Order: sequence, then structure tokens, then C-alpha cells
Amino acid sequence: MSKTTDQTYDYIIIGSGLSGLVAGALASQNGKKVIILEKHFLYGGFATSFFRGKWEFDVSLHCLSGLNEGGATDSILKDLGLRTKLEFFEAKTLYRAVFPGFSFSVKSDCGDYLQSLCDIFPDDREGLCEFFEMVKQIREDSKDTHRAKTMLFRYREVTLQDAFDQLRLPQKCQALLAAYCNIYMGLDPDEALLINFAFVWTDYHLYGGYYPAGKSKSISDALRAMIVENGGQVETNSEVRTILVDHQRAYGVQTKKGHIFYARHVISGICPKNALEMVQNAESLPMRFRNKVENIKPSVSALQAYLILNVNFALEYGEECHEIFLYEDEETNLTKSRMAKGEYDKLPLCITAYENIVPGYNRDDQITTLTVMQLCHFEDWDDLSESEYRAKKETILNLYLDRLEKRYPGIRSKVAFCELATPKTVQRYTGHAKGAIYGAAQMKEQSLHLSLSQSTPVDGLFFTGAWTRSGSGYGGAMLSGYSLMKQLLSAESMI
Ligand SMILES: Cc1cc2nc3c(=O)[nH]c(=O)nc-3n(C[C@H](O)[C@H](O)[C@H](O)COP(=O)(O)OP(=O)(O)OC[C@H]3O[C@@H](n4cnc5c(N)ncnc54)[C@H](O)[C@@H]3O)c2cc1C
Repeated sequence: MSKTTDQTYDYIIIGSGLSGLVAGALASQNGKKVIILEKHFLYGGFATSFFRGKWEFDVSLHCLSGLNEGGATDSILKDLGLRTKLEFFEAKTLYRAVFPGFSFSVKSDCGDYLQSLCDIFPDDREGLCEFFEMVKQIREDSKDTHRAKTMLFRYREVTLQDAFDQLRLPQKCQALLAAYCNIYMGLDPDEALLINFAFVWTDYHLYGGYYPAGKSKSISDALRAMIVENGGQVETNSEVRTILVDHQRAYGVQTKKGHIFYARHVISGICPKNALEMVQNAESLPMRFRNKVENIKPSVSALQAYLILNVNFALEYGEECHEIFLYEDEETNLTKSRMAKGEYDKLPLCITAYENIVPGYNRDDQITTLTVMQLCHFEDWDDLSESEYRAKKETILNLYLDRLEKRYPGIRSKVAFCELATPKTVQRYTGHAKGAIYGAAQMKEQSLHLSLSQSTPVDGLFFTGAWTRSGSGYGGAMLSGYSLMKQLLSAESMI
């Protein structure tokens, strides 16, 4: 039986990920009546923590981009009045790439990074300088409507590999430059659009890599507090089941518990495939829109091991970076096929040592909080029986420990706790199709003007979050919620 509430809102937001929280915070700051409905018992989506005993683990965040002056995350937090309320630690060295036989520390500062590359590849100085200029120019051009059009046209088909080939950069150098493509985006350079790569790369190298003092949860906490202080609500354990639509106009939602909420705008910050299934009379929506949503290809998923070491990692192994990318070889264009074949022994690992960026991260100087992330496909974890799933998790954890042991002898005996999350875990907690960690796959066919628009054919219904145009990652999700709400508020002010 439905339980109608007598409350009517300006904005109902489905899902309390960062995109939804930012959209809600901005609306509430502008005097709008907002409610965010979250199915989980925690708010924040991926931007939250969980406890195992006394140890607290960040679910997802390794490195937050865009916090330097002029970066999107910085501007959003400033506009919301939250920049100075949150404390961030900067990663001056973004990561250390460790290959068999050589390793390289990647400075955040573009100039330092370029110089250290030129020191190793002196014969390729010209190509390297050109590469850095090219990616920075793409970012610069995107800020100007006219120049952006020309740039988008010029690079619409150009992949990262095309740029490497054009500049004749040696394979070892490509392996270093492609790190974000292989490790973060889960793409091969020959399938990643140079424009998409340039955005991720400049987000970190121009606008910095950071980690919040109170873990990613502190960002969600600050946004939620702001909404509540402004009279809004963030309701957990409130799964939305139906988006109410009459004459192609959204007017509210109904939750699993049967509560009905009314609003002039409904914003979906969840997987759009699920949202579409919730829309009343979705079959009457234009076929083109339905096909678009139903056929979006989800991004990669991930395995992430959460570990506690009973030693100080930096002191024990001299490993001072907070991010370490561990490679088995210098191959750059095998990510896709290796993921398809489930070759976990060959795919690179992304290790995050949290105490190396936030001293006393888990309130104990004698321990280290580590995560080991590896991108993978959902299909490799689907359709397993309970016992097969458990056995596979055990095998992967052992494989990770063996790979760590090779690099850091004796580390196995120092593991006080470890647990593995899989694509099934991601899907269970967030509902994202195929356990996608970045929303829509960043392939050519889904990028730029071909990505999912934030408006829909249903009046008053909008999409936000990683699956939509302004993208994935913490920065992308926040920007997506922020830019959508800016547009809606501006449209409202003109009525
Ligand atoms: C292991 C891992 C590591 C990552 N590392 C980084 C990193 O270092 N840097 C970076 O920038 N990004 C990283 N990301 C990506 C980043 O976390 C996401 O892209 C971003 O947080 C997505 O935010 P969002 O607002 O789109 O949605 P989400 O955070 O996915 O939130 C969606 C919310 O909607 C809720 N929901 C779903 N269905 C319903 C329903 N029917 N009713 C109500 N609520 C519902 C879900 O419970 C969830 O809370 C990582 C992700 C993972 C998984």
C-alpha cells in the first residue's frame, strides 16, 4: 500500500553519490527544498568508508584530482563554501611506476615530470615536449566554446596510440605515459580517445592529486551537513522503485517501502539503465532514447583488496609514495585482451598506501592501510556458484600476496587483515550495471557528444553522475551534479 507524504519538494534526487550530494547541496544553498533518497544505509555512494574491527577503509578513493586553483573540484567546493572546511593532503609525487628492471616516480608538477622523462629519454625530448603541449592545449581549448569546437573536430577520432606513433615515442616511454590509461581508465592506448586521456591526465598534472584528511567520507559528510543545515533531507534506507510520470512529466517517486514523494524535478544519480526501468510508462518514451540508455556499455569493474600490515610500509620497504603501479611488463595495448581472458597475473596492480599520504590514517603508527586494485570485467565473476566465488576470491588474494611478496619480501607474514571486494560487491552495493566503477565505458562511441545527455524526454527528469556527459571519477561526478544544478537553477530564475 502506498503512503503518501504531504511534502512536496523542488528537487528529489535518487542516490546519494557525490553527483547527487553536490546537486543537492547547490540546490539547498539556493533556497530550494531538497530530498535525497538513498537505498543503502550509508550515504556517499562510492565516497564512503567501512570498518573491519578498529580499522577504517576507504571504499574507493586513491587520489582526488582538480583541487589546485582553477581545477573543477576546487571551484565547486569553493562555491559551496566547503573548500576551507575540508582538509586535503597533496601528493607531490602522484605515483611510482614499477616495471621489471626499472621504476619511475611521477611528479605531479608538469614541468618536473617532463624534465625527469627527458633525463631518461634524452633523444626523445622533442617528442615528449610536443606530447605535453598537445594534452595541455586540448585542456586549454576546451575552456573556450569556439576553440573547443575546432579541437573536438580535430581530435574526434585520435587515440592516445595515434599520438604516441606520430611522435615516435619509444615503448618504455609509452608505458610510462599510458599509466592513467591502463591503470585508472582500464583502456588500451589504441582504444582511448586522446581527448579523454588528456582530461584525466591534466586533471591530475595541472590541477593536482590529493587525499582528504577524513577519508572520502569527509566530503560526503560535509555535503550532507550542508543540505541538512539548509533544511534539506538525506534519507538512507530509502530505495526508489518508481519514478512517477504523467503525460511525460515526472512528478515524484515511490520508494520500496511505499512512500510517495512529490517534486517539480526528479534527478537520477543512479545507473540510468535501472532508472529507465523505474520510469512509469517507459514504453511510451521515444525508442531512440530507450535504445541509447539500454545499450550503454558499462565501464570496467574492479577487484580491490583491503589490507592491514602490522608494519610501517615506508620504513620497512622504503616505499614512500602513496600510489604504486606494479607492472609485470611494458605492454600497453594488452589491457583489454588480458581483462577479457582474466589474466590477473599479468594485469598491473594499483597499490595505495594511505599512511604515506595521511599520517596516522588509522590512528596507529605501527600499521599500514593498503589497498590493491586491479581493473577487471564483471563477466569473469558472474555465474559462479557460492563455493566457486569464494574459491576464486581466495585464489586472487593469494595471487596478489605473491605478487607483493616478489616486490616486498616478507610482506605476506606482515598481513594482519585482508579482504577482497569484487565486481559483484560493487554491483550489490551501488546497483551499477556490470559493477561499473566509472559509469559508461569511455570508448569512442560513448564519448563527447555521443555520451549520455543529462536531460531526458520526460519533462522534469534528469540524469547526473558517472554515466553522464561530464563524466566519471570523483571530479567528474561532482562536476556532473554541479553543472546540471547550475543549469536548472538558471532556467528556474528565468521563469
Ligand atoms: C574501487 C574504486 C576505486 C576508485 N578510485 C577512484 C579514485 O581514486 N579517484 C576518482 O576520482 N574516482 C575513483 N573511483 C570512481 C568514483 O568513485 C566514481 O566514479 C564516483 O564516485 C561516482 O559517483 P556517482 O555520484 O556517479 O555515483 P555513486 O557513487 O555510484 O552513487 C550512486 C548511489 O545511488 C544509490 N542508489 C542506487 N540505486 C538506488 C535506488 N533505486 N534508490 C536510491 N538510491 C540508489 C547507490 O546506493 C549509491 O549510493 C573509484 C571507484 C571504485 C569502485
